[in-house]
Amino acid sequence: MTRFEGKVALITGGRSGIGRAIAMRLAAEGARVFTAQRGADNDETLGDAVTYLHHDVTSEADWAGVVGGIVEEHGRIDILVNNAGIFEPKPIADTTLDDWNRTILINQTGVFLGLREAGLKMRDHGSGSIINISSIAGLGGASMAHAYAASKWAVRGMTKSAALEFAADGVRVNSVHPGIIDTDMFKEFGGNTERIIAAIPMGRVASAQEVGTLVLFLASDEASYCTGQEFVVDGGFKA
Ligand code: NDP
Repeated sequence: MTRFEGKVALITGGRSGIGRAIAMRLAAEGARVFTAQRGADNDETLGDAVTYLHHDVTSEADWAGVVGGIVEEHGRIDILVNNAGIFEPKPIADTTLDDWNRTILINQTGVFLGLREAGLKMRDHGSGSIINISSIAGLGGASMAHAYAASKWAVRGMTKSAALEFAADGVRVNSVHPGIIDTDMFKEFGGNTERIIAAIPMGRVASAQEVGTLVLFLASDEASYCTGQEFVVDGGFKA
């Protein structure tokens, strides 16, 4: 398939879960894909069309190096998926300032840095699509996940403001709000998974691929008139 032939994409947190599914799908459909994560080692199972980069999304220098390097090599960056994130659920009473700052730094500040670094290159080029992975926790309350919900609500607002700022320059910015997805993040959660699944109207969690399908639509020219919007993939959880 060649839907993304000639396109250059950067996916943060592409080592695992949703990011990995997006990277593999984009590569399979013709894109030149870069995945960025804290672990530096190459992952050959991703194939030749995917380049594995060391990149901590909280580092301004890493962002400048990664985006600058891609643009130097390919002359452009067409797609950014701000996917990297952490989920460290705790009651408010047990949330230390360090806990709070860590979640905000990765889940929110990391997205800001990506929007700025890649967004400005896209603006100069006159086109691009940025997809920010928020959560259903960015649409409603999330008990025992105060910092996480705050960061994901922020991503939603940042998406809308960036969309307004970049709209006239051909750069689209949207947020995706997954429900419960079968990745390491969910497996490591350790909560009452049976109770969670019972609360999902479709009666099951989603695969990372099901989120990837939505992200690919938003990344593609098929979504040419979509910007500043929230796209939910949650099996009816927040219906
Ligand atoms: P995973 O834990 O599988 O993936 C998270 C990825 O983020 C990892 O590859 C991790 O890499 C990377 N990452 C974390 N911190 C950093 C950092 N500072 N710099 C660079 N990369 C980093 O989880 P998911 O695939 O499930 O999560 C992907 C996104 O989807 C997250 O934003 C999450 O909040 C969101 N989401 C997930 C849901 C779910 O149910 N799974 C539901 C709703 C939203 P490393 O391990 O090397 O640090």
